[in-house]
Parts: sequence; structure tokens; C-alpha cells
Amino acid sequence: MSRVLIVGAGLTGSLCACLLKREMQSKVQIVVWDKARGSGGRMSTSCPPDSSSHSADLGAQYITATSSYAQSHHRFYSELLSAGVLQPLDSLVEGLKHKDGNKDYMTPLGMGSVVKHFLSESGADLFFERHVTGLYRRSASWEVQRKAGGSELFDAVVLTMPAPQILQLQGDVGHMLSVHQKQQLEGVEYSSRFAVALFFPPEVIFTFPWAARYVTDNPCVRYIAADSRKRKADCPGRGPSLVVHTSVPFGLKHLDRDKEDVQPIILQELNKLLPGLPQPISIKCQKWRYSQVLTSVPDCPGHMTVLHQPPLVCAGDSFVHSNFDGCVESALSVLSVLKASL
Ligand SMILES: Cc1cc2nc3c(=O)[nH]c(=O)nc-3n(C[C@H](O)[C@H](O)[C@H](O)COP(=O)(O)OP(=O)(O)OC[C@H]3O[C@@H](n4cnc5c(N)ncnc54)[C@H](O)[C@@H]3O)c2cc1C
Repeated sequence: MSRVLIVGAGLTGSLCACLLKREMQSKVQIVVWDKARGSGGRMSTSCPPDSSSHSADLGAQYITATSSYAQSHHRFYSELLSAGVLQPLDSLVEGLKHKDGNKDYMTPLGMGSVVKHFLSESGADLFFERHVTGLYRRSASWEVQRKAGGSELFDAVVLTMPAPQILQLQGDVGHMLSVHQKQQLEGVEYSSRFAVALFFPPEVIFTFPWAARYVTDNPCVRYIAADSRKRKADCPGRGPSLVVHTSVPFGLKHLDRDKEDVQPIILQELNKLLPGLPQPISIKCQKWRYSQVLTSVPDCPGHMTVLHQPPLVCAGDSFVHSNFDGCVESALSVLSVLKASL
């Protein structure tokens, strides 16, 4: 049995864990660590402290399958559809550019349910608040250090955080990357955004007709979603929620400011766009320093092998593109590497 550590319980990490379990069940023991308090990464669904209100998707909003990915990743889509995790997106999204042949899906329980589905299928040992700070090669194993102190040995490690965060790791990763690989990782660029979720009391009913809307004439706000309406999850006794994403130029301009200082600016702009919005009972603001990939590793290889034995593989949307299918491609390529080396 090889002990495999997957760093990151986002979509790529959860898919890697699930595929490894399905294809190499008798050969691997899978462990997943994430520095956050829960799973999902950029596909997480947040709840307000008072759970009488709806949850909200602060990151990814919906899943679009091109006709080509609908075919090549058919098994992933049909699995999620038959489990009720995905449903066709048929509510009004103003400004959504729909290309012929593309299919849009929403998640009735929030985007985090996609990641939870694959994690639960994986049967992996899952640990939160495990922040990896460094990796050190110890003959046939990797010693993985945690921020809180202590370390553990693994036979193989898969890193699924964005490339700039891989480059921040201490230990042997930096030394083992070739000059070319290091340049490729350094060349990865991400957009940055802020996201704000507003949770309203149960009696609030939105008067606008859309479930989500792309905004083109505001320097700060790029997208607004009536999250529960988008997911067709309005239910009595639970208040609606609204999600706001800022534009990329706004995100870049305010990137180094605290989210607490930026939140009032976003709310002021939101009130210009939706005057008379009722008072929310709770607000959550998120800074996505690494939001979506602008420049990925050239030729989108899906992964980067830092060392073959003991295996150390980097994966995630830095190596493909920032959406569901990009993460599936990455996880499939990690599977093929680990199948060959374990
Ligand atoms: C605002 C926004 C909107 C988006 N909209 C869409 C959309 O509509 N549709 C779509 O398909 N995609 C969308 N995306 C992109 C999509 O969310 C990402 O491509 C996808 O979630 C990436 O998954 P991942 O697992 O590769 O990375 P992540 O989700 O970033 O997962 C990496 C995980 O690693 C953990 N981690 C990082 N460093 C460490 C460490 N040192 N130790 C331990 N754990 C660590 C993080 O906590 C995180 O959970 C959007 C993203 C954002 C931010």
C-alpha cells in the first residue's frame, strides 16, 4: 500500500482522490489535507453564522460543458446529474454568453456539493486546518511539514494549490524543479477579485426578474447572483442570499487592501445598481487573490511531475484552465502518472 497525500480539498484534489480510489483501490491509502476549515477551495459554499439563512457560492457559480467536453467527460457529468448534484441551469442569467452546443448546469445544494460528492466517493482520510509549509525528500518518502508544527511521511504527494502558492513552499520542491519548470510555474498568472455574500431575512423577496446578471457599466461590480434563485433553492423560512463579484481591474487595484476596507466600497456600488435593497442580516467578504487562470502553464499539460520516485506531482487549474473540465483534465493526468509510478 502506498500512502498518497493530496494537498488541497478543492475540485482537483477531490477528483484526484476519487479517481485514485476507483482505479488503484488496493494499492493506495489516500489522505487529503487542506489549510481551510472545510472543503471546496474556490468551489466552496459559504453559510452565514446564523444558519437560518441560505448558503451562497462565493467562488464558482455554474458549470458550462462545451459539446466536446460533454462527450469526453460524459461519465463525470452523468454521475453528477444522476446523483442530483448537477441540474440544468434554466433560470434567467442576464448577459450570459451562451454558445451553441454548450450546456450550463447549476448545483441545487451549492458548488461545494460537487467537491463533497467526489470526496465522499474517495473514502479518503480528510483533514482540515492542515497547512503545508514545506516538503523534504527522505530517501523513498516525502516528509511533509505543517504550519502548526509536526510532519508526516508519505510515499507520494500531489499538490493542487495555484502555482504561485506551490512556489512559496519551503524545502526541496524549489531545488528539484528544473530551470524550465520553475519558469513555467512563474509564468502562471491569475486574475484577482473580491466576492461578497449578503444573507437576508426570510421575509425578503427580490423584485428584480433575474437569477444572475453580468454588469458591464460599473467599474467595481461585474456580476450579481440571487444565489438561492439561481439554484432554485428558495424555501420558506430561509432567507435569500445575494452574491456580488467585483471586476478584475477593481480586484487588482485593491488587491493589497484588507477585505474589511474594501467591503463598504462594494456595498456602496451594489446599492447604486440595486437601490432600496433591504438590510442583510449577515455579510461575508472574500478576497480571491488567485481567482481564475489568465495564463496557464504552456500547452496545458494537466500536471507537472517534479520527481518520479518518490512521486511529487503538481496539479490544478494552473496546468489547464479555470473551470470544472480543466480540473477533470488535471485529475485524469495525475491518475495516469501515479498509475505508472506506484
Ligand atoms: C470568483 C470565481 C468564480 C469562478 N467561476 C467559475 C464558474 O462559474 N465555473 C467554473 O467552472 N469555474 C469557476 N471558477 C474557477 C474554479 O472555481 C476553479 O478553477 C476550481 O475551483 C479550481 O479548483 P482547484 O482544486 O484546482 O483549486 P482550489 O479550489 O484553489 O483548491 C486548492 C485547495 O488547496 C488548499 N491549499 C492551498 N495551499 C495550501 C497549503 N499550503 N496547505 C494545505 N492546503 C492548501 C486551498 O485551501 C484550496 O482548498 C471560478 C473561480 C472563482 C474564484
